[in-house]
Amino acid sequence: MTTLKITALGAGAVGKSAITVRFCNGIWVERYDPTIEDSYRKMMELDGTQYLLEVLDTAGTEHFTAMRDLYIKNGQGFVLIYSITSEGSFHDLEEIRRQIVDIKGEEKAAMIMLGNKCDLEGQRVISQAQGKETSSKWKCPWFETSAKNNTNIDDAFTTLTRRIISA
Ligand code: GDP
Ligand code: MG
Repeated sequence: MTTLKITALGAGAVGKSAITVRFCNGIWVERYDPTIEDSYRKMMELDGTQYLLEVLDTAGTEHFTAMRDLYIKNGQGFVLIYSITSEGSFHDLEEIRRQIVDIKGEEKAAMIMLGNKCDLEGQRVISQAQGKETSSKWKCPWFETSAKNNTNIDDAFTTLTRRIISA
């Protein structure tokens, strides 16, 4: 069976752990220790082939670029996560994306961009238009997700898996 290594990246508190656990374990965790970094496994069948997805939920890497370098070297697919309630988290993705492209090259960099916490419409500061614009500039699929309500989580990982396979 083919194992595909996926890495979740983004600012603190955007929902990296909530998304990873929602996807891999099928549950919502409200409070997850922000310092825990772990990987989770999940099978995915795509066009009759089984893949084992190994999702690394990174933690506290915001200020350690060298760490991020290592994650990117080891990863095959990247989930770039911001929160629609945080302007800073949206802008932080630029640096992360640049690092991925530098290391993997434009074509080999299988990425998706997620605007998480879309259930918090009343606290929204990043519009759908902003998300769409940046993702089309990056030629990268984009979804608004909610780990809490399980919105678009499976679709996002399926899309990323397809990208990795065809990269
Ligand atoms: P991480 O630091 O990126 O791993 O973020 P966490 O997964 O620990 O989530 C940070 C906070 O945001 C926690 O209080 C979560 O309950 C909350 N959170 C994560 N995803 C969602 C979501 O989709 N909707 C809402 N409303 N809260 C979320
Ligand atoms: Mg976390």
